[in-house]
Amino acid sequence: THFGFTNVPTSEKVKKVRDVFDSVAPKYDLMNDLMSMGVHRLWKRHAISKLNLQPGDHALDLAGGTGDLALLMQKRMTRSGRVTICDINYSMLDQGRHRLTDEGWLCGMEWVQANAEELPYPSNCFDVVTIGFGIRNVTNIPQALSEMFRVLKPGGKLMVLEFSKIAIPALRPLYDLYSFKLLPEIGHIVTKDRDSYQYLVESIRMFPDQESFKAMIEAAGFFNVRYENLSAGISAIHLGYKV
Ligand code: SAM
Repeated sequence: THFGFTNVPTSEKVKKVRDVFDSVAPKYDLMNDLMSMGVHRLWKRHAISKLNLQPGDHALDLAGGTGDLALLMQKRMTRSGRVTICDINYSMLDQGRHRLTDEGWLCGMEWVQANAEELPYPSNCFDVVTIGFGIRNVTNIPQALSEMFRVLKPGGKLMVLEFSKIAIPALRPLYDLYSFKLLPEIGHIVTKDRDSYQYLVESIRMFPDQESFKAMIEAAGFFNVRYENLSAGISAIHLGYKV
């Protein structure tokens, strides 16, 4: 089966993404650690350090799932800041809420089940919008980017952390071997669910490269858009501003 972006009708993609995350939610954090050998934690910390968050800021973390980025932001803003976490999937939100309650970090956080393509917020109300490893799962990416632009305050900042394209050609065969062969295997062993991890690998392949995605962010109205490769382009951080 092929679950790529272009070959699947919209409703089918929404359903597929929901099933994937329903299935992986309970083991999502563990899988992230195994698959990236813990490196996703460094990427996330680095991405949040780029935001220059201030105490009192209100951040929106889209596709916030298990709350990783939200927690990092809340810590930086101290308890005077606020983070709203949006995810389309209830299982992922529930998982995150429990985890962050256990860690004693729930105050200042708001958990909302919503689609990034139709944000339930008025225009110009957030200082920062983030989305970590979520944008590639969204069906209509240009629509989601314009929603992010709309809800940001003028002067607000967008940060997208997403898998990207390997920038060093010599490393590509190794990366292909890892992602096509090993990763679904690890997924199968840990979650008994090879299909979901197969989908994740394919969704990474289908996602635009650094420059093309930068152009999409600019097309949504953002200024001063730039990106930084992480681990040779396995992931990238894109930043942009609303003027
Ligand atoms: N941000 C977390 C992280 O970095 O670990 C979770 C990332 S997880 C790979 C992707 C998340 O995107 C899932 O929780 C999924 O439910 C969510 N998602 C997929 N499509 C979405 C949409 N249209 N709107 C909001 N969230 C969406």
